[in-house]
Amino acid sequence: TNPVFTGLETTIFETMSRLAREHGAINLGQGFPDVDGPEDVRRVAAEALVDGPNQYPPMMGLPDLRQAVAEANRRFYGLDVDWASEVMVTSGATEALTDCILALVEPGDEVILIEPLYDSYLPIVRRTGGIPVRVRVTPPTWSLDLDALERAFTENTKVILLNNPMNPAGKVFTEAELARIAELCVEHDVYAICDEVYEHLLFDGSVHRPLMSFPGMRERTVRVGSAGKTFSLTGWKIGYVTGAPKLLDPIAKAHQYVTFTTPPNLQKAVAHGLRKDDAYFNSLSAELQAKRDLLAKGLSRLGFGVLPCEGTYFLTCDITPLGLEGRDVDICKRMVTEAGVVAIPVSAFYIADAPTNYIRFCFCKRDEILTEALDRLGTWL
Ligand code: PMP
Ligand code: GLN
Repeated sequence: TNPVFTGLETTIFETMSRLAREHGAINLGQGFPDVDGPEDVRRVAAEALVDGPNQYPPMMGLPDLRQAVAEANRRFYGLDVDWASEVMVTSGATEALTDCILALVEPGDEVILIEPLYDSYLPIVRRTGGIPVRVRVTPPTWSLDLDALERAFTENTKVILLNNPMNPAGKVFTEAELARIAELCVEHDVYAICDEVYEHLLFDGSVHRPLMSFPGMRERTVRVGSAGKTFSLTGWKIGYVTGAPKLLDPIAKAHQYVTFTTPPNLQKAVAHGLRKDDAYFNSLSAELQAKRDLLAKGLSRLGFGVLPCEGTYFLTCDITPLGLEGRDVDICKRMVTEAGVVAIPVSAFYIADAPTNYIRFCFCKRDEILTEALDRLGTWL
């Protein structure tokens, strides 16, 4: 017997973060802020850790956090959600997405994935026996090819997986794109798994519209959020799923066997965080937007072809104008050893036939780190 699993390879984030450590490079690869999120949120977690209880919380999550998630759905999107039957807490959005795929995809089901796609989707879809069907958003504008989207829907389509705002593209799907996705889901009786972990990281006045809020989608969509992104606490791994009971029930069954539950003190702290005032949520985006601008300006000055970024904490660049030899993967490796800066090759986010001239930089770092990275790149180029 062969103990080597096919399709489960080392992720690009692990590879590049390891390289960053080995070479003492500035890590603008893996997406994590270098300053921890709000102190009041961390303090609630610390106090709850000391005071307890620290035993298994309820499988579906602490009622306090489930209520806070339902409140946030109403506050930000006007969605009417019953916390008791429509919200579940998970150990990170990664677990939530895995639970959703395990619950909704059966062998032979077609699953529409939009490239460039976040790295955890494909291995799990394949492990469930689902058949990936690819659609793309295309640089430099990252617009969705609506004709290709329409062709992707067949009588075997079970699920579309939508990441909005989108990693690594930094794209926020337009109202028209979302409306068309919704129409096609309704027409073909397809479920949507919506990875909306970057819902609060939006720039230049962009607005997040959950696919769930489009006509006909309330009952066929599950929406996934992450405290890691919303509170700049990526190590906490607290996610939440919102969806109609018919969908959430099987997803909760999967959650029972994946992690069963999630640390109680962190859940309590995230409940507190989701009730923070608008000033918090606005400043989160405003601070990130300034960092995006700092990095985008610097990279443009160095000759990178900087692509638009409307949300997330990722900036993608075309490296063709630099005139360097090699593909994105080679250039990223050289950048680590020669410049001391880590970026992620965007080809890692494709299933096949990837473009090889784009790289992704993460900008949720202190300004002096971004400036130092730009200086290093300037010296290198
Ligand atoms: N989806 C996307 C698009 C992401 O970028 C991330 C970042 N890690 C996740 C899901 C996972 O979130 P979490 O850390 O809460 O598992
Ligand atoms: N979401 C992060 C990114 O895209 C990485 C998370 C991880 O390392 N799995 O960089």
